[in-house]
Amino acid sequence: IHSDKWCVRYRAELEDKYNRRLAITTELKRALASQQNELSMVYQPKIDLVTMKVCSMEALIRWNSSALGFVPPDEFITIAEQAGLIEQVTSWVMKQTISDLAYFREKGYDFTVAMNLSTQDIQNKVLLSNLVSLLTEKGLSPDALELEITESDLVADASLAIENLNELTARGFHFAIDDFGTGYSSLAYLKNLPVKTIKIDKSFILSLASDENDQQIVHTVLSLAAVFNLKVVAEGVEDLASLTILKDWGCDVAQGYYISRPLKLADLEEWLQNTPF
Ligand code: C2E
Ligand code: CA
Ligand code: CA
Ligand code: CA
Repeated sequence: IHSDKWCVRYRAELEDKYNRRLAITTELKRALASQQNELSMVYQPKIDLVTMKVCSMEALIRWNSSALGFVPPDEFITIAEQAGLIEQVTSWVMKQTISDLAYFREKGYDFTVAMNLSTQDIQNKVLLSNLVSLLTEKGLSPDALELEITESDLVADASLAIENLNELTARGFHFAIDDFGTGYSSLAYLKNLPVKTIKIDKSFILSLASDENDQQIVHTVLSLAAVFNLKVVAEGVEDLASLTILKDWGCDVAQGYYISRPLKLADLEEWLQNTPF
């Protein structure tokens, strides 16, 4: 009896999950095809810990669905990958981000913009060559852009991903390894990849000021990164104490709510005018 009940509940849960997934797939397709502006980009500043000034902005997608309300990117990006929609999502992100990057340059800002790419994107030659064309159209150089990829993406299908990485690096693009510390790769492994930057995952940074384990991990990563000549970004910096530790230990760049939450373009311009950074 007990297991029957469990079974019913489990089936109901599966059904809920299935329905949610289906709704997201259907609505995302609609959002991509329509002109209703359900999708948008927000930008989160990163600061250089030597100059304490803004050096880059991470572009993050937002989806405010008329049918489903706000859907978090972690949720719909994963579903888009599985439903064969990620190419369309990334194409949309690329167009919007590069157009915003051109706007930042027009306004005289010289920070770089970091864009997130999914596993499948770095194996998609058409998509990547569109990226080059979009930049060329706007008269922008590839070094204005940073591409963030997760380490698991490289382990999954090493050969093609690495080939594309090398090709794009030769064209002047820069790659950063996102969520560093959550996957399997080591810094020694990264040495053989055309990667200049690692982003320490926010799970190690959020409680940095109070958690000795996190301090040990972050300190080790920073020392090793120095040996391998890698630039280190810490994400998830939520307080001054963590920021100070990172600065003292030679971390290069910080990003997090202490500096700013991700902002839409209009709010970002206002923030840039008033920030001490
Ligand atoms: P991510 O690339 O690791 O992005 C960092 C996430 O941490 C963002 O969540 C950001 O809002 C959040 N964050 C930044 N600072 C803090 C902080 O101080 N504290 C806390 N608690 N969180 C902080 P978001 O925007 O919800 O994005 C989640 C994930 O969705 C991203 O993780 C990325 O994997 C994916 N994503 C977002 N936008 C895109 C996109 O345009 N393309 C792709 N492929 N993936 C995207
Ligand atoms: Ca990222
Ligand atoms: Ca991350
Ligand atoms: Ca992530």
